[in-house]
Amino acid sequence: MKTDPDCVFCKIVAREIPAAELLEDDDAFAFLDIGPLTPGHTLLIPREHYTTVDEMPGDLLARVTQHLPLLVQAVQAATGCDGVNILQNNHRIAGQLVPHVHIHIIPRRPGDAWTFNWPASEYAEGEMGKMADRIYRELERRC
Ligand code: 5GP
Ligand code: ZN
Repeated sequence: MKTDPDCVFCKIVAREIPAAELLEDDDAFAFLDIGPLTPGHTLLIPREHYTTVDEMPGDLLARVTQHLPLLVQAVQAATGCDGVNILQNNHRIAGQLVPHVHIHIIPRRPGDAWTFNWPASEYAEGEMGKMADRIYRELERRC
């Protein structure tokens, strides 16, 4: 199993540094985020060190994310929140600070501290189809 001796989440999995642990199995580990956006902010990670989600084998990602429904139920019940955002950042441009894949579960309540901008735009005429074609061709190359 790949680990990175400099990675803070690998150290948490190895119990070299403490965390408020919530769940673990052979593939996955979950614990509270030390800097919560809202109380109960939880992180679900693969035990193995992968930097970004596109590096992960799909079946491993599936075994990690299979815990999401249960974790979300538990976080919602324990915090009394009204809903959650599930967020997964890849690379610095997308806000990733810890280079070990992690999925944020962020409890939400009316008036909580977290806001995010969602500046929805529109495709120019014909551009949506062209974009779908480009992505579809990349999918075909990989299948
Ligand atoms: P990112 O910005 O990479 O998506 O999120 C990294 C998250 O990891 C942040 O929300 C940050 O608070 C959390 N984090 C960073 N270091 C530690 C740590 O040592 N322990 C815990 N529990 N969370 C951490
Ligand atoms: Zn790691």
